[in-house]
Amino acid sequence: MVIATNLGFPYVGPHRELKKLVESFWASKSSKSDLLAGARQLRENHWRVQKEQGIDQVPVGDFTLYDRVLDTACNFGVVPKRYHDIPDRLEQYFAMGRGLQKSATDTSPKIDVPAMEMKKWFDTNYHFIVPEFEQHQKFTLQEVSVVNDFIEAKALGFTPRPVVLGPVSFLYLGKAVKASEPFEPIALLDRLLPVYVDLLGRLSAAGAEWIQIDEPVLVLDLLDNLRLAYEVAYTTLRQANIKILLASYFGPLGTNVDLVKNHIDGLHVDLVRDPNQLDSICAALGPHQYISLGLVDGRNVWKNNLHKSIALAQSAVNILGTDRVFVAPSCSLIHSPYSTQLEKGIRDDNPELFEWLSFAVEKCAEISIITRAITSGQDFVREALERNALAVETRRTSSQTVNKEIRRRLDTISPNDYKRVSPFPTRREQQAAKLRLPSFPTTTIGSFPQTKEIRVARAKFAKGLISPQSYDTFIKSEIERVIRFQERAELDVLVHGEPERNDMVEHFGHLLHGYGFTEHGWVVSYGSRCVKPPLIYGDVSRRAPMTVTESAYSQSLTTRPVKGMLTGPVTMMKWSFVRDDVEPRVLCTQIALALRDEVVDLEAAGIAVIQVDEPAIREGLPLRRQDWAAYLEWSVGCFRLSTSGVRDDTQIHTHMCYSDFNDIFDAIQDLDADVITIENSKSEAKLLSIFEHKRYTNEIGPGLYDIHSPRVPSVEEMASRLEEMLRYIPKHLIWVNPDCGLKSRAWPEVEAALLNMVKVAKQFRTHE
Ligand code: GLN
Ligand code: ZN
Repeated sequence: MVIATNLGFPYVGPHRELKKLVESFWASKSSKSDLLAGARQLRENHWRVQKEQGIDQVPVGDFTLYDRVLDTACNFGVVPKRYHDIPDRLEQYFAMGRGLQKSATDTSPKIDVPAMEMKKWFDTNYHFIVPEFEQHQKFTLQEVSVVNDFIEAKALGFTPRPVVLGPVSFLYLGKAVKASEPFEPIALLDRLLPVYVDLLGRLSAAGAEWIQIDEPVLVLDLLDNLRLAYEVAYTTLRQANIKILLASYFGPLGTNVDLVKNHIDGLHVDLVRDPNQLDSICAALGPHQYISLGLVDGRNVWKNNLHKSIALAQSAVNILGTDRVFVAPSCSLIHSPYSTQLEKGIRDDNPELFEWLSFAVEKCAEISIITRAITSGQDFVREALERNALAVETRRTSSQTVNKEIRRRLDTISPNDYKRVSPFPTRREQQAAKLRLPSFPTTTIGSFPQTKEIRVARAKFAKGLISPQSYDTFIKSEIERVIRFQERAELDVLVHGEPERNDMVEHFGHLLHGYGFTEHGWVVSYGSRCVKPPLIYGDVSRRAPMTVTESAYSQSLTTRPVKGMLTGPVTMMKWSFVRDDVEPRVLCTQIALALRDEVVDLEAAGIAVIQVDEPAIREGLPLRRQDWAAYLEWSVGCFRLSTSGVRDDTQIHTHMCYSDFNDIFDAIQDLDADVITIENSKSEAKLLSIFEHKRYTNEIGPGLYDIHSPRVPSVEEMASRLEEMLRYIPKHLIWVNPDCGLKSRAWPEVEAALLNMVKVAKQFRTHE
């Protein structure tokens, strides 16, 4: 029998219950037992929901109070020394995730520990906690939640399948703490494997038949030491008395399948990212091995094309028979929102769009329909298949998804549209003549403090509690405040402060055709933090000019240049759920054209400096190197398309929230922005050496201070930072600015920091 399975479920809950539970515990408003009881109830609800949707084997161990990688570290006793003084296990766990500050009491000393590092989970927007390994790391199996959860689910009558993060991925994702000799965490594999064997033994003793071991690293380009690690790890784990389903996702396995195929009982493959790998994977499997078909997209929000999925499942069954096939989502469903049933707004306002959507709960039902279509025959699920086919068809042909005019415009783009009129040196002269900026020009990245008054006014406006006129007056007064401060501070290129924006993507999404918004479409970003990405469902075009009014108003208040401020096409796309029925490069080109019109309109309105932010370009890099060139070609192209419609004397800025450009330096130069501002205050200035070696030709502002902290940096500190930067970047190219936008800061510290920053620039000018 083909079996309906799931790899992981959105554990935060339909209404972000887990967020509320842990945050109330952190704020000491509830007890540890309240938290644990609430978490237990959530798990039970989630198992029940999945079973009701027709999932035969439900995942356990996918639930976490903070992060699953952190859980794995704690389960194996991988706790850095600085947390050892925290006696309570749960408090220690949260301290590793988010830091802990506690003043001394009669019975306990003061505690002040920062959080561990976070990194992005492959190409998703989820951040995991990076484990820290010592050179002689000892691993000891602690009480492990996955075993408890398994027993709990089994007692409740479910058929649970435990999920753990695999040993190779766990070590690979971690980092080595500084040791006498540098080492790679993967060298610890031999020490780690015995505790995995132990864990598998405990699960087997508790009655588990299968275990799902997640090894997403298996879809990356692997160096020899990792290839060997896979063979060693799974030859060892095979000895445990439990069937191993090795789960890969986010990409095709390629030849990496050979590393594991002889040592496992089943293999999960992501057929959404690459359906073509099905035949070769089936051919690679031995006569008793299972395949788990990742057919339903765990990374997106659209209804599955059930007809196509059933055909793929059928072809696997034709090769392997019905007894060796699992049907599954492509990856864990934690990356998709909970359920469309909560989206009353979309259902009422755009019923057609509502019909196209499928979130985690509905995806479980899709998995079940595919499974039943194979086991019982398509007639058995005829009605569901017909409804699905209709939704797929209306989406394909709807006037909401296709805008003929935009498609025609895409065909008329010429190579010249990707180029500024003249090369940078010519533009630079013209811009200098027009803007008349001093050397070491000062600017900021865009946003100023989003105060409580701003958030309250926005919320009231959204609820219709204040009129558009009074909201507009309020925004204008905020802009004026920001402009007046910058004049007083004598900054050179001003910004309007972005008071009208709640978020740099959602704000523009509302002003474009093709974007939709959910009310409850939350997905976890890190810890208890969730985000609600917009959905791009149709061809994108501008409804009307988006920022011209605010920018022109800001410019009318001052004689200094005010920067126009836009979010770039790649970021507009990467931080949204995107349609899967057009190529990413086509969608991005549509957004780029909308932005191009905006950039040209800003210029016509008298804006001489325009910034197009692209913080998401690097995180969009494909997982495999072989795909980088194609990605960079279209993503850089789209940035250029959006910014190249202007005259030579209009200065284009871009901004990125990182400073490590080693991998993508040529692409950064290729953007051909007149000025790029980057993060740099926390990184070693040495990272800038690449700009020196590669002879970066355009202007650049490496951030002088960290905006993530309320600390006010002193003049001396920033001056020595700038001095250091000048070792790598010629002074005629350098700008003086903070690391990123100031929206999460408070006014007093922003004023003090920027006044100091301007002093630094002035000091350097007088030394010339
Ligand atoms: N202009 C945006 C701001 O200042 C940029 C934010 C970002 O880079 N993430 O807030
Ligand atoms: Zn930034």
